[in-house]
Amino acid sequence: MRFYREPIQVADAQEKILSYAEKTKTETIPLIDSEGRRLAQDIYATCDVPHFTKSPYDGFAVRAEDTNGAAVQSPVQLEIIGTIACGDEPAFSIGQGQAARIMTGAALPEGADCVIMFEMTSENEAKAEHTVGIKKEMAPGENVILQGEETKEGAFLIQEGKRIGPGEMAILATFGYASVPVYRLPRIGILATGSELLSPEEPLRYGKIRNSNSYMTASQVRQAGGIPVLYGNLEDNAERAVEKVLSILRDVDIVITSGGVSVGDFDIMVEVFKRLEVDLLFNKLSMRPGSVTSAARYYNQFIFGLSGNPGACFVGFELFVRPLLHAMQGKQNVRLPEMEAAIGVDMKKPSSFARYIRGVWKQEKGRIVAYPVGPDKSGVVTNIADANCLICVPAGGRGISQGEPVTILTLPYGAGGE
Ligand code: AMP
Ligand code: MG
Repeated sequence: MRFYREPIQVADAQEKILSYAEKTKTETIPLIDSEGRRLAQDIYATCDVPHFTKSPYDGFAVRAEDTNGAAVQSPVQLEIIGTIACGDEPAFSIGQGQAARIMTGAALPEGADCVIMFEMTSENEAKAEHTVGIKKEMAPGENVILQGEETKEGAFLIQEGKRIGPGEMAILATFGYASVPVYRLPRIGILATGSELLSPEEPLRYGKIRNSNSYMTASQVRQAGGIPVLYGNLEDNAERAVEKVLSILRDVDIVITSGGVSVGDFDIMVEVFKRLEVDLLFNKLSMRPGSVTSAARYYNQFIFGLSGNPGACFVGFELFVRPLLHAMQGKQNVRLPEMEAAIGVDMKKPSSFARYIRGVWKQEKGRIVAYPVGPDKSGVVTNIADANCLICVPAGGRGISQGEPVTILTLPYGAGGE
């Protein structure tokens, strides 16, 4: 069992994980703090927008029938009976032969059925009776924003699960959602395993390396809407790892470990899963890098054993953890967006497993071309920063030649970002 593992397809592994995905609990938070969060309920209009008929211009509110025959050469004179500023509730109504000054966004007074812009009028302030000359014949409803014209009370506006951005904020404020129901951010515990690991603040020692995976994963977690909680590094000791994983599970929704999932003498995660008697979802995938990426259920929680190789750790998160974090927060499309690209170089290396190569896509002469970020070695750390996609090279065959179409999974970071 330790050495033979049954590989499953990436899509099947994703399905398995998602079949257990449950949305996080909800909480209600102040509107101003809801940016970037996902809505826990559908949002409907609580009133008409606008909820009163109003003027789109600065001008005069008049009755269209009173403007019959009006022209630049022969203005119709109307009596000005008042002024309506924004926010006023007009206390008068417009009778025959009357007009009121009205400002943009102000409520149309009763009796008026249209608004004529200042530019088409001439005021006669010198005259005893304060009048305005209307230079254009108006039609009823002209230059008026009707109540409910934009949105009717009860209209469906935003789907549950949608991420709150500027447009959603504007809607929520418009309809009086001073506090907003959102899904809680899942808390993700991150543990690095490996007796060779040092923390970033420690000086290098021969044979040791600094733990980069935990920080990389923390960034991925945050960008997928989770809260990363770092639990440091652990030496390759299964017993201590079992204790540690159990104690982390008490504080978080999901545990992600890196390292120790392979078949080496000190690869402890196999033993950890065994001792915890987890429900193993998979421990072998027909993909590269990270074929030993593992996932398990421990009661109603997830444990992900990502590969220690930074490139494989990165890819493992994107393919398996990101969709879960999205599903937990109600996102509709949980997988990375797919795009068609032309491959920029020959990739003839045949592989019996599908490959997910860290790549960079760019627009070249109107088409999208994808290039690997560098040597496709899962241990390379320094080129992950360049990756803005994963290039999917299918299993088998003869690989792909430069210019051939290839599917890429786009990432929300990497080259192109700043
Ligand atoms: P493992 O999966 O434990 O066999 O580790 C595979 C490779 O990744 C080894 O070269 C490790 O030194 C390296 N590695 C493991 N964990 C980390 C980590 N947290 N950060 C950077 N490299 C790591
Ligand atoms: Mg190791």
